[in-house]
Amino acid sequence: MRLSVTVRATKPSFLNTCIRLSSSTASSLSPAVSLNPSGRLQQTLAGSVEVKGKTLHSGKISTVKLIPEIAGAGRYFEFRSRVIIPASIEFAQESPLCTTLLKDELKIRTVEHLLSALEAKGVDNCRIQIESQSSDDQEVEVPIFDGSAKEWVDAIEGVGINVAQNHVGETVEKMVAHVNKPVYVYKNDSFVTAFPALETRITCGIDFPQVPAIGCQWFSWRPIHESSFAKDIAPSRTFCVYEEVERMREAGLIKGGSLDTAIVCSAKHGWMNPPLRFDNEACRHKILDLIGDLSLLARGGNGGLPVAHIVAYKAGHTLHTDLARHLTLD
Ligand SMILES: [Zn+2]
Repeated sequence: MRLSVTVRATKPSFLNTCIRLSSSTASSLSPAVSLNPSGRLQQTLAGSVEVKGKTLHSGKISTVKLIPEIAGAGRYFEFRSRVIIPASIEFAQESPLCTTLLKDELKIRTVEHLLSALEAKGVDNCRIQIESQSSDDQEVEVPIFDGSAKEWVDAIEGVGINVAQNHVGETVEKMVAHVNKPVYVYKNDSFVTAFPALETRITCGIDFPQVPAIGCQWFSWRPIHESSFAKDIAPSRTFCVYEEVERMREAGLIKGGSLDTAIVCSAKHGWMNPPLRFDNEACRHKILDLIGDLSLLARGGNGGLPVAHIVAYKAGHTLHTDLARHLTLD
């Protein structure tokens, strides 16, 4: 649900704090990666947009306001009207079911679908104000909507995108990381690799032999035009295995989960809430998650998703963020 669209200037003192924070926490890229001009200018939203929705794990309602930001500021969360958490890998925490940002004991959970949409749509600079139901909550979660990034893409497209200017009114060229030699992370038979390539491509594989309706799927995607992400990736929803849902509920997770927030597949009975939006919707969703997790490589309004062929097999948020750390390590 979109509530309102307004344009509001950001306070200069707040911007300075944010830019200082962003540069002070920036880590160097790995020697396997170089930062090159993209030939495009940094962008931001043309106006502000507010959305509200139920969250997956706690089941509470959160409000998110996306606000235009100047070139160089990058993407960052603002929680409880004072704490700024850059959407950067340094603040990402181990978390198997979602990606969480942590700073000063305050947590922002399930950031990946929102960040995927911002990264893929080219919203390079954005202040993301987020509030939970209770003002004293130590953690807040990004709303889940239908389990896809469609709501975020609609919100971004509804308000529009502009070229961003820096604090002295100049445009800034967007830089993007290029992977120069293979980088990989793995655990058991799961892996994520980034190979040198002339353009960005993502190939994902999943394998659920115990759930025949999912089975083994591969999908390879590259952003061939402006609407590729909105059309091919953003509508794909989170998926879960029905037999594992009770176990997660017992662990206090997915309190807000329902047949409206994910596609659910039973080992015995197949998909429980058809129709699927794509035959390989589950595999496409992995690409959505991967873009969101690698967006955490972005610094100061530059691109997060590197120019590389990224290949992931049976991977999840933990391996995705591990690869991001390897691409930033000296
Ligand atoms: Zn996801």
